[in-house]
Amino acid sequence: MPILARMLPAPLTMQVRRGAIAELGSLLTDSRVATSGRVAVAVGAGQGDKIATMIASTLGEAELFRVPDGSVDAAVSLGADLRKGAFEAVVGIGGGRTIDATKYAASLAGIPMVAVATNLSHDGICSPTASLTHEGGKGSFGVPMPLAIMVDLDFVHDAPPSLVRAGIGDVVSNLSAIEDWQLAAAERGEPIDGLACAVSRTAAEAVIGRADSIESDAFLTVLAESLILSGMSMVIAGSSRPASGGDHEILHAVDQLYPGTSNHGELAGIGAAFCFFLRDDTQRLAQVVGCLRRHELPVTPGDVGLTEEQFTEAVVLAPATRPGRYTILEHLRLSDTEVRERVGAYVRAVGR
Ligand SMILES: [Zn+2]
Repeated sequence: MPILARMLPAPLTMQVRRGAIAELGSLLTDSRVATSGRVAVAVGAGQGDKIATMIASTLGEAELFRVPDGSVDAAVSLGADLRKGAFEAVVGIGGGRTIDATKYAASLAGIPMVAVATNLSHDGICSPTASLTHEGGKGSFGVPMPLAIMVDLDFVHDAPPSLVRAGIGDVVSNLSAIEDWQLAAAERGEPIDGLACAVSRTAAEAVIGRADSIESDAFLTVLAESLILSGMSMVIAGSSRPASGGDHEILHAVDQLYPGTSNHGELAGIGAAFCFFLRDDTQRLAQVVGCLRRHELPVTPGDVGLTEEQFTEAVVLAPATRPGRYTILEHLRLSDTEVRERVGAYVRAVGR
């Protein structure tokens, strides 16, 4: 019988637990990521010293690099250092910025990358993209998926709570992204990947109804796994489609118009809630808003310091941030006046 199957890339190992960073050395050797010991470690500006001390005993041979920020320049400079040093692999330890810069640097140097996350702010831990800043704003760059993935819950507990809660907004926004993909399939005949949808949706559903929050190890484990699965859904789809729809178009527009307003995951959550409002899906809207509120995440533009007018401008600009992606925003094609009315109605519907 012929066996016809799709082969999917996947990380060699994935660990979500406390104390993961301290045992990094054995992970690298056991999974044969690095056998000769020529490993580079990239750490962020914030927790770099603490991490360096922790890994000194197990990764004594490793050369340590500091990643000053999540810019293209920082990533290119690290990429040049990695190439010069002829390393077997690079381990990126830190938050989203450090991991994304290291991912891009590894792809430039042509070596595998191990991602070790210390917070859970978005689904970039395992995604095949790196989001980096440059003179013109922020860009998303295609990169290979990390070879191994670790989330150290000790560090996650110590991370700023807002950077951990933010991941909830990013993963819940998958539900809106999938609606958009289905809409594009129905109206535009865009091919849809059922497996990518299943992975992305299941990740969001695992988080959305939970009563516990970021204080609990059980919750953090599910959140970390969901964010990793969300990244995997993008690997399966070969694009960010299963985790980025109108919700992310709105967040990119907010980033462009009002840089520094809030972080990725918080804005994704607001974008998703607003998109469910536009779809008149009262049930999902209530569920998403309930989830965001339960975890103290922002829901209205005012919650992140934007006026209704500023948010209106972002929604109007949103489709232009991702040309070719068909979502509820492109479907409705609202005029500026209509957007303003819908934003006002949204705030009245969900505001407290
Ligand atoms: Zn996202």
